[in-house]
Amino acid sequence: MTSDEALRIRIADNLARVRQRMADAAHRAGRPVDSIRLLGVTKYSSLLETRLLFEAGCHDLAESRPQDLWDKAKELTSPDLRWHFIGHMQRNKVRRTLPLLHLLHSLDSERLLLELENETAKLNRKLKVLLEINISGDESKTGLAPASVEMILDRVLETPHLELCGFMGMAGLGTDNDSARPCFERLRQLRDTLQTKYPTLQLGELSMGMSGDFEAAIEAGSTMIRVGSALFE
Ligand SMILES: *Cc1c(COP(=O)(O)O)cnc(C)c1O
Repeated sequence: MTSDEALRIRIADNLARVRQRMADAAHRAGRPVDSIRLLGVTKYSSLLETRLLFEAGCHDLAESRPQDLWDKAKELTSPDLRWHFIGHMQRNKVRRTLPLLHLLHSLDSERLLLELENETAKLNRKLKVLLEINISGDESKTGLAPASVEMILDRVLETPHLELCGFMGMAGLGTDNDSARPCFERLRQLRDTLQTKYPTLQLGELSMGMSGDFEAAIEAGSTMIRVGSALFE
């Protein structure tokens, strides 16, 4: 067996294991497993590893740096591949990244909102976005403070080229299911409250859960989990 073959088998095994963990968590929560999408986070992975994950059947891939997304998107060109962006987006990287994206998870400021609206209007296309919310309460974490979300929602109502689909949140570094659960519950509740207050918006998507805590996220209502290390270990 070549080393590429061994790597292919390892990644396929990891994917099967993650999908089984998803199915178990969905079952415990009484949810259909196909209501949760698995995103493979490839930020620490080589092009070969990324390709093998895609070929194993994970068609949603996520990057956190524009340059890495550009580089991989150039090499992996299947029409079945959907790219997600989950990191901090600098405004000067927007123009080149936009055309590649299926969903941007990390809209976290009014300035970025205006830049995205400008550039999507120029390209005459729409962009699906999630608002990234700081649910950990940790000042050093990225994302909007929950108190400033309504201000951004008011602006989103005025940006015809951006299609807001819901929220993204991170529990914090090195959290496990038990320590992350209250953060995920808070984000779900915030979404439910704002959905009632803004009935014309569709806030159905909740992007939450990573390798160490995605079971708790699924039990709290996650619709997209972002998994890196568990797929490539
Ligand atoms: C790196 C990263 C992940 C994946 O983390 P793992 O613990 O490797 O699964 C998920 N979401 C974001 C925003 C990340 O930066």
